[in-house]
Amino acid sequence: MAAVEKAEFRRGDAASEHRDGLKRSAERHLIQPWPYAGSIGNEARTPIGSGDGIYITDGEGRRLIDGPAGMWCVNVGHRREELARVMYDQAMTLSYNTPWYTMSDPSAELAERLAAHAPGDLDHVFFTTGGSSAVETALRFMQFFNNVRGRPEKKLIISRGGAYHGSTYLSASLNGRPRDRDWMDGADDLVIKLTCPNPFRRPAGMSIEGFTDFLVDEFRETVTSRGADRIGAFVGEPVQASGGVIVPPPGYLPRIREICRENDILYISDEVVTAFGRLGEVFASEKVFGIEPDMITFAKGVTSGYFPLGGVMISSRLTEVLRKSNHAAAMFGHGYTYSSHPIGCAVGLKNLDLLEGGILEHARQVGPYFQERLKTLEDLPLVGEVRGAGLMACVECVADRESRNPLALDNDVGKRIDRHCHELGLLVRPLINMCVMSPPLTITREQVDHMVAILHEGISRTMDELR
Ligand code: PLP
Repeated sequence: MAAVEKAEFRRGDAASEHRDGLKRSAERHLIQPWPYAGSIGNEARTPIGSGDGIYITDGEGRRLIDGPAGMWCVNVGHRREELARVMYDQAMTLSYNTPWYTMSDPSAELAERLAAHAPGDLDHVFFTTGGSSAVETALRFMQFFNNVRGRPEKKLIISRGGAYHGSTYLSASLNGRPRDRDWMDGADDLVIKLTCPNPFRRPAGMSIEGFTDFLVDEFRETVTSRGADRIGAFVGEPVQASGGVIVPPPGYLPRIREICRENDILYISDEVVTAFGRLGEVFASEKVFGIEPDMITFAKGVTSGYFPLGGVMISSRLTEVLRKSNHAAAMFGHGYTYSSHPIGCAVGLKNLDLLEGGILEHARQVGPYFQERLKTLEDLPLVGEVRGAGLMACVECVADRESRNPLALDNDVGKRIDRHCHELGLLVRPLINMCVMSPPLTITREQVDHMVAILHEGISRTMDELR
């Protein structure tokens, strides 16, 4: 018995030495996304060892609820054997095909199934490698479309404060969170930024209806002042995710859609987060918000994060214009080595089976409960608002509820909550004074209760600390 214990201890000891070694390797050699200048070559992030269902296990063996589902992406949960098998099977059948002159079966099948779910005539798809490349593709497609039909001056892009659309040059130029832009360059001459549609941050004394009118008027006036003949596209997330789960006021998106239609401006709905069940539907634009865009970008949930894949659904009205133009030989000079990747598309198909096979329905059932339970956190004085839709939510902390002032708050309040929740068994995504939650869609009501209990305790401990 003692020998066994000793052997296990050695194994544990060796494992922890191994982990420490990896941490040092990461500190010295690994640059992770969104690093601070001072942390490069100096700091490593929290190690995560494994995942199972809605849980992940950290480097110390602590089991945590994966509150953000990775980065809004592990929709069907971790460690799905069906998805692992399909990757293996596809790799053993055809691991790669050259999209320049061949086509794989899974890409054609996935295109057809996505077209059946997309609203209206959005029945063409261009597969990419993720969300940024999907947004970049949609924007370059708009440019190509306007060049081919003889409108080369119609290229400006309207975006909004609070937006996040990616990390390639053009997609990143649309980003509206100051932190993303403070130290970075962008194609500013191509982009017009409008007000973030955040009802919680509307001007004091203004009603929600008044705020909606203000946003719509601002949009209309911008089209008039800059000229409809110069504006090519509006790009918007139906719910701004990384900006703090900003659900726009009712009726706002359809009114913007209408102005776009009247002015021949392409409406690009960025559903990189909201598609594939986060709001209970495969695509949310029409079913949840009543809009039929010209293009929809997607990524993340299309493979539940198991393989890097994204894409753009494109209206056949647009492809028809191109086909019938006088420039049938004009090439859309855009593509990726990994466009239509057969493994990604095979995973996408199996993932869609899982969603259609009950997970979408489950998400529709559990979503309202998730929102209702999280809302109870508004009883805590530090919490200014809990908002969200479906299975995405944000807890926004304020220094003073009356003025909703976040500025006087300790800047690290999100991180403090995250630290306490981590100790209690929940990973949250901290965003300055906010915590964002978007768990795997398979979360049960009991697990929601557990998550909310941890958050309650984590926020209470933060309040004690700040006192
Ligand atoms: N668009 C939205 C709405 C996103 O939230 C993201 C990423 O979080 C992107 C685009 C970029 O996607 P990716 O990180 O896959 O390039």
